[in-house]
Amino acid sequence: MSVSITHLGSGSRGNSTLISSENGNVLIDNGFSGRQLEKRLARMELKPTDIDCMLISHHHGDHGSGVEYAMRKWNIPAKMNYFTAEKIGVLDKENLELFENLDRLEILSDVSFLPFPVPHSGAENVGFSIVTKGGEKTCVVTDIGSETDEVIKHMQGCSHISIEANYDLRRLLSGPYPDILKNRIMGRGGHLSNKQTGKLLSKIIGPETKSIVLTHLSEKNNQPHLAESTVLYHIDDIFTGDIAISLQDGPEFSHFLGQSTQEKMSIKI
Ligand SMILES: [Zn+2]
Ligand SMILES: [Zn+2]
Repeated sequence: MSVSITHLGSGSRGNSTLISSENGNVLIDNGFSGRQLEKRLARMELKPTDIDCMLISHHHGDHGSGVEYAMRKWNIPAKMNYFTAEKIGVLDKENLELFENLDRLEILSDVSFLPFPVPHSGAENVGFSIVTKGGEKTCVVTDIGSETDEVIKHMQGCSHISIEANYDLRRLLSGPYPDILKNRIMGRGGHLSNKQTGKLLSKIIGPETKSIVLTHLSEKNNQPHLAESTVLYHIDDIFTGDIAISLQDGPEFSHFLGQSTQEKMSIKI
C-alpha cells in the first residue's frame, strides 16, 4: 500500500495537491479553472470524476477559485470550514460538508486528514496533517504568516513535508511591490520568507523526515535556487533527505509514503 502526494501546481496563480491511494483520490485546494484541472489531472491519468473529495484550506482565489465549478460540474464533494464556505459562496451546496478545525476526517479508508489552524490575514486558513493507516505522516501547509506552537506541533513527525517558501526578503524589499503590499506579505498574516521556512523546518524535521517540497514560490520575489539554498542553510546539519520545488506548472513529480524513501516517479508530460 502506498499513498502519493503530487502538486498539480503551486503559486499565486493556483494551487492544488493530489493525495492518492488505492482507495481513492483527494484534492487539497482547487485554485484552477475546470479546464486546467482536467489537463493537470490527465497527466496523472485521472479525470475530475475520479476525485472523491476536495479539502479546502481557505477562500483565497489561488486555493478556492475552482471549487464551486467542480462541485457543480462534476458533483465533487467538498469539505471546508464555515468561514471558507461562506466566502467561497457554497454554503447552499448539497455536496458541501463543513468541518471544524482539528476534526479528524476519515475520507479514504487508509488515509485520514486533520485540518489545523494556520495564521493568514482575513482568512480562516488551515494546514492538513495526513496520516496513513500504516502510521506514516505527511503535511501540506501554505499561506502561513508566522509559525505558531500549534503549527510546529502538528508538523512534527512527518516523513514528508510540503510547505511554502514564498519570498526572498531581499528581492521583496527591492522589488516592484508598493510598501503596503510588501508589509502585508511580510506581516504575521502574510507568507513565509525562505529564511522563515528554513527556521520553521529546523524545528519540525526529525530522523523520520525523508523528503520536503517547497511550494507557493512568488514569481516576482523568489527564485527556486534562492529558496532551496536558503532553506538548506538552516537544515543542512539535520536533514539528509530529498528536497524539491513545486512550481506553478505542474504536476512534475510525486512523493510516496509507505514505500522506500527516495522512490519518486517521473510524470510523463
Ligand atoms: Zn491566501
Ligand atoms: Zn495562496
